[in-house]
Amino acid sequence: MSPPTTPPRASSGRYSLWRLLREGLRAQRGWSPAWAKAAPRPRYRVVIVGGGGHGLATAYYLATQFGISDVAVLERGPIGLGNVGRNTTIIRSNYFQPQNIPFYEFSLKLWEGLEQRLNFNAMVSQRGALNLFHTEAQRDLFTRRANLMRLLGVDAEPLTRAEVKALVPLVDLDNGRYPVLGGFLQRRGGTVRHDAVAWGFARGASEAGVDIVEHCEVTGFKRDGERVIGVATTRGSIAADTVCLAVAGHSSHLAAMAGLRLPIETHVLQAFVSEGVKPVLDVVLTYGAGHFYVSQSDKGGLVFGGHIDGYNTYGQRGTLPMVEEVAAAAVTLLPGVARLKVLRQWGGVMDMTMDGSPIISSTPLDGLVLNGGWCYGGFKAIPAGGMTTAHLIARGTPHPLAAHFTLGRFAAGRTIDERGLGPFPYLH
Ligand SMILES: Cc1cc2nc3c(=O)[nH]c(=O)nc-3n(C[C@H](O)[C@H](O)[C@H](O)COP(=O)(O)OP(=O)(O)OC[C@H]3O[C@@H](n4cnc5c(N)ncnc54)[C@H](O)[C@@H]3O)c2cc1C
Repeated sequence: MSPPTTPPRASSGRYSLWRLLREGLRAQRGWSPAWAKAAPRPRYRVVIVGGGGHGLATAYYLATQFGISDVAVLERGPIGLGNVGRNTTIIRSNYFQPQNIPFYEFSLKLWEGLEQRLNFNAMVSQRGALNLFHTEAQRDLFTRRANLMRLLGVDAEPLTRAEVKALVPLVDLDNGRYPVLGGFLQRRGGTVRHDAVAWGFARGASEAGVDIVEHCEVTGFKRDGERVIGVATTRGSIAADTVCLAVAGHSSHLAAMAGLRLPIETHVLQAFVSEGVKPVLDVVLTYGAGHFYVSQSDKGGLVFGGHIDGYNTYGQRGTLPMVEEVAAAAVTLLPGVARLKVLRQWGGVMDMTMDGSPIISSTPLDGLVLNGGWCYGGFKAIPAGGMTTAHLIARGTPHPLAAHFTLGRFAAGRTIDERGLGPFPYLH
């Protein structure tokens, strides 16, 4: 292992109310960039491919928790323009599988103290995540999920129809398609400003000595037999003891460059934001009859989304049938939304695994670690994903909370099928 060689770099300073006031009085002249724009060096102890949430969080925790700052994060564009900046910002830990609940709960706990640790306002808002149910069978399923969560010490609350109405007056309980029978609330769920997460982790990692190298695309891998010893990039070759892939929707593409075939398909997921209105919705609302979720941003826009489009693509745009499906779910549940204009629509590419659960794992190639397969739920997992991937890289053994997310589980038939839907990525 090579010793850390990163030179100390200028800090962007501590952010505080006092500093805001001071800068306000001197024409904002004292701010410096939040993270250093590093040029790649020929060798690092760890190279992380992908400057999204998971790549940056992994680098941050490697440097701050495991004492490894000889790290580069290589991002092909500017950081934060991948899925970390394209999602609908929901965080929660209301999962079903006993392996998933503790992992996502760990993440939620990390979110709870993150802004103080990073000294960065990520607008963590624990406004509650409310799942609605529409049939008796669904009530049973949700009750089972709530009970499992409570057994593992995680908050979950059943709500009556009247309690749902009191919390979300906008909802049409008696809509003709799927009348609402009740809800299931996780009060600690909520939203986080997505791109601030990338910026906050980048700033923290950079100050801890990590090189954030933007506009540096990885185009291949250097191998010595069955060991990965570095990467080829558009800015030259870089050697590393460990290479970590954290490229979300591009996992299968990058792994193929290293000679690996992953149990992952890439699909597009769309999201939408309406024009801004006064506060009308102060929880994250999920429609149990279809796949639809909505929250209101601090600017007032309703941010909403649905299911993946259902075909394989690397294109960050979607099709009109899914727009129609999401809009139909929106106006069924919240008829008032029909009068709002949609301001923007966009898409992101999701790495859908065969069981809907992620992969945080070593690979058949020595020196190559994988953080991927996040499907469309990886934003909430960023702190835990980063911490457990850093643990795997630093210690060489899986973190106990992520030990089941191995690549080998697919070959061994030990899948973690959160929704019980079988090996069909487009259904998860
Ligand atoms: C519309 C939408 C809504 C979503 N809503 C939610 C939600 O509400 N809650 C939730 O938990 N999750 C949600 N997700 C999922 C979540 O955003 C992703 O699972 C998560 O962000 C993926 O991890 P990441 O942040 O590391 O990925 P990314 O930000 O995509 O990071 C991967 C990075 O790798 C880079 N890269 C790719 N190839 C290369 C290369 N060859 N060389 C260098 N760099 C490369 C990319 O440019 C990208 O920046 C949503 C996703 C979308 C698209």
